[in-house]
Amino acid sequence: RGAVALDQLRVLYQPVVNLDTGQVSGMEALLRWHHPELGAVPPDQFIPLAEEIGLINDIGEWVLQRACRDIRTWIDKGIAVPQVAVNVSSLQLRDHALAEQLKFALAGSRLSADLIRLEVTESALIGDVDRCEVILNALKAVGVGLSLDDFGTGYSSLSYLRRLPFDKVKIDQSFVRDVDANAADTVLVKVIVSMAHHLGLQVVAEGVETEIQCAIMRDHHCDEIQGYLFARPMPADAIEAL
Ligand code: C2E
Ligand code: CA
Ligand code: CA
Repeated sequence: RGAVALDQLRVLYQPVVNLDTGQVSGMEALLRWHHPELGAVPPDQFIPLAEEIGLINDIGEWVLQRACRDIRTWIDKGIAVPQVAVNVSSLQLRDHALAEQLKFALAGSRLSADLIRLEVTESALIGDVDRCEVILNALKAVGVGLSLDDFGTGYSSLSYLRRLPFDKVKIDQSFVRDVDANAADTVLVKVIVSMAHHLGLQVVAEGVETEIQCAIMRDHHCDEIQGYLFARPMPADAIEAL
């Protein structure tokens, strides 16, 4: 609660690169908690707690607002800003306020909705797909992009992909990590890309760290990569310079 009140939350941005053009085609907003003694606390360590104590909606709204304000600053400086992806917790996805929060943040920074993309993990959909479907359709109607995050780690349900209004799939890091050594992972990447493309979805590979992983993703017609090979998550002023 103190982190929010004391303004200790920060948003970093990691670029996403298009494999056809080699250009930065997007970025992902990633939350950090700058604690005076603990340093930068990673989101895995405090988001589950924020969900537990009922803070995640406020934090999620803050991240959306921050991202929209940063985009507005960049546009005002004449920078051609690609789409910015913001992560959404499973609890936010069950709250009808999310679409309103989104519209409010976009309007507050005078942004068109296609500058924002929301990322939802596969596991966030489990349990209440009907309700998630209603909310995802409402978000889609606002005009933002929707990505299915960490694909391959949950049920990898084909019916989710067919039924829900996603336009991008992110292949989880765990498949990318061993893709050069493990033939089964290479086959999975190939199958995910082919399946997604046939359903009209684009594919992003997460956690690409080496040239070899990048080459394999390109050979298998993956659309975009994100990972340390190109750049780590960085503060707003650094991504602005990039
Ligand atoms: P995610 O959405 O899967 O984000 C990708 C994570 O992979 C990020 O970790 C990023 O720093 C890391 N990463 C990127 N490239 C590489 C790479 O080449 N190698 C390796 N080993 N890692 C890489 P991060 O920033 O620690 O975030 C962890 C998770 O926390 C995110 O996973 C996301 O689920 C969650 N998260 C982050 N920001 C937010 C937020 O604003 N709201 C919510 N609800 N969740 C967030
Ligand atoms: Ca994500
Ligand atoms: Ca992910």
